[in-house]
Amino acid sequence: MSDTLIQLAYLFAAFLFLTALRALGKPDTARRGIQLAAFGMAVAIAATLFNSRIVSYEWIAIGGVVGAVAGYPLGKWVPMTAMPQRIALSHALGALAATLVGIGEYHNGLSVGELTRGHVLALGFEVLLGGLTVTGSLMAFGKLQDILPGQPITFRGQNAFNLAVLAVGVASLVWLVADPMNVTVAAVMLAVSLIVGVLLVLPIGGADMPVVVSLLNSYAGLAAVATGFAIDNNILIIVGALDGLSGFILSVAMSKAMNRSFANVLFGAFGSAPSADAGGPSPTGGEMVPISAEDAALRMAYAEKVIIVPGYGLAVAQAQHQARELADLIEKRGGDVRFAIHPVAGRMPGHMNVLLAEAGVPYDKLLDMEDINDRFAEADVALVVGANDVVNPAARTNPKSPIYGMPILKVEESKSVIAMKRGRGAGFSGVENDLFVSPKTSMLFGDAKQSLITLGLEVKNA
Ligand code: NDP
Repeated sequence: MSDTLIQLAYLFAAFLFLTALRALGKPDTARRGIQLAAFGMAVAIAATLFNSRIVSYEWIAIGGVVGAVAGYPLGKWVPMTAMPQRIALSHALGALAATLVGIGEYHNGLSVGELTRGHVLALGFEVLLGGLTVTGSLMAFGKLQDILPGQPITFRGQNAFNLAVLAVGVASLVWLVADPMNVTVAAVMLAVSLIVGVLLVLPIGGADMPVVVSLLNSYAGLAAVATGFAIDNNILIIVGALDGLSGFILSVAMSKAMNRSFANVLFGAFGSAPSADAGGPSPTGGEMVPISAEDAALRMAYAEKVIIVPGYGLAVAQAQHQARELADLIEKRGGDVRFAIHPVAGRMPGHMNVLLAEAGVPYDKLLDMEDINDRFAEADVALVVGANDVVNPAARTNPKSPIYGMPILKVEESKSVIAMKRGRGAGFSGVENDLFVSPKTSMLFGDAKQSLITLGLEVKNA
């Protein structure tokens, strides 16, 4: 295949990636988006196989087999609740690939004695960003998988110390550009980049990891751009830029939905304070009022308008199928059921959309916060399934609350609320929730999946 044909194939792949990104923006086209992206990647890989610089296909074939053997189980069997750490692991592997390409290219340049300053700048950038993404992503994986402590680890002068170490990394890059053959400086830069990845993630709490993962995603993208320049590959530059920018936009959007500044997520050590609620009294002194599954079911069965509000607890309990079954039962009886989707419910963007779509909830039943918030006032029952922070009225009413300003679902406006959770535990932010002690609210304690199964049976019998 001539180089022009390869470039045309890359152009086509780039078009597919852009179309895929657009399709990923909506739940009903997201599946097609993933398929388009996979097809685009297949086109890009196939075209690259015709690159005239390839001297042997042996290692490429071995790499392909290893990748497929590792990738298939990761994609097929990792549960949705473990998706954030799976993505962190993928970023670590992607960044490792970029870093190794950088090291390999540097080694090649050294052995033939041909290393221009521009080439070393691109390679150095690639190794610096790639290295910190590898260790940063592995740290994020460890925290999300509970292999490492989830609490932020902080010490005095941490931010200044981290910046100083990062400055050493950047200084070694500058030195290397001035003196491209200096292997010691190259080694120092690599070591520093690996250390920076660890240092950057240490002060960030486990629950903020999804923001970090998406930021590291953008670093991995930038490393890919540098790789593209270093090995003169256009598709890497395009894909890296898309990856880098979309990762950054996503991180900012997630911070915004939590009403936290980007800097607060990265340097604020949020979540280091112990969880506020271990069963203590609420700030307003109210008591949670429990309800039995039978009574809750009666209320649901005779309600005309029901809004189900899923949260992290639904994901933990893997209760999405039971939520859909309950909605179907209520609709069969003539009720109208909608699902209210908060942008940061759960632990990753789109978490609830993905789970509920997987359970077969029709897309037109999934309403975003802006679209559903005005409907709560008309709802007979709002059923909160393992959500906490995203329904906390303190975000609107209490300026002293750490979550004040975070846009929330206006569940408290509905005529009555049934909230499902296992006990009196706080949500991710550790902030108590007055919704649960409001006179409108009844608490259905227990694991969300089990409670939904019982509710479904009772609604059937009602
Ligand atoms: P929360 O984490 O605030 O609350 C979840 C609630 O679920 C807890 O109160 C817990 O109470 C309950 N729960 C846990 N397990 C179960 C179970 N098996 N059955 C029933 N209930 C259960 O969740 P939200 O979805 O409301 O909020 C998400 C939070 O995560 C927000 O603060 C958001 O800012 C943050 N976040 C979200 C990100 C995202 O991209 N989605 C990224 C980073 C942070 P109990 O222990 O009593 O059962």
